[in-house]
Amino acid sequence: MRILVTNDDGIMAPGLLALRRALADLGEAIVVAPTMPQSAVGHSITLTDPIRVHRVDLGDGLVGHGVEGSPADCVKLAVLELLDEPVDLVASGVNLGANVGINVLYSGTVAAAVEGAFFGVPSVAVSIEDTDAPDYDGAARIARRLIDQWFGRNGREAMLLNVNVPDLSAGPPKGVRVVGQSLKGWREGWERRSDPRGRTYYWMVGGPEREDHGTDSDTAALAERYVTVTPLRFDLTDHARLGDVAAWGLRL
Ligand code: MN
Repeated sequence: MRILVTNDDGIMAPGLLALRRALADLGEAIVVAPTMPQSAVGHSITLTDPIRVHRVDLGDGLVGHGVEGSPADCVKLAVLELLDEPVDLVASGVNLGANVGINVLYSGTVAAAVEGAFFGVPSVAVSIEDTDAPDYDGAARIARRLIDQWFGRNGREAMLLNVNVPDLSAGPPKGVRVVGQSLKGWREGWERRSDPRGRTYYWMVGGPEREDHGTDSDTAALAERYVTVTPLRFDLTDHARLGDVAAWGLRL
């Protein structure tokens, strides 16, 4: 089995190395990841600049490909150019910070997995709640157990899974729940400041919105200390509304 390991926190991020370690004995785990942190770049790709790729020493005699680009660039470049053979799994993470609710759409971690799914490759994004001392190895081991169960089933469907792990320093998770994506996002807010030259700048502040109690969603289940698994799709069409809009009888 060949696994492409990537992330948005950068190729030297401890979460990526933990994920690679947890998947290493499944076969060949190849690291292709951004040279610089790329959190919240979403599904951006590099169109007008060249992309350079560097050999990066990951320790223990391992070498990865450091890409001067976004997470989506990494997967696209790896699949189409850098790797000689197809991969069986794209694993993105372990990201520092949960990717639940609307934040899924800002996430570079999830975008890398989505890019894998574009190529028909089973893909998974793995994130852990942001804490002072995130247990990346613990989160990566949880991801590995979930992947084993997924791949143990017949078919190995080209599915796209988003996995979030609660803060493990507070004890083991209560279990795993398969839940839909919440529509809660970031409680928006801006601080308006002045720089030393008297020019105004803005800094985003605030934090993740909490889900209403009793809601069945990724945001709620993670807050209740469950590992969450959400199958995602990248067809953004509002299929339920297609007929409604068609019925408007739009014409030029
Ligand atoms: Mn990140």
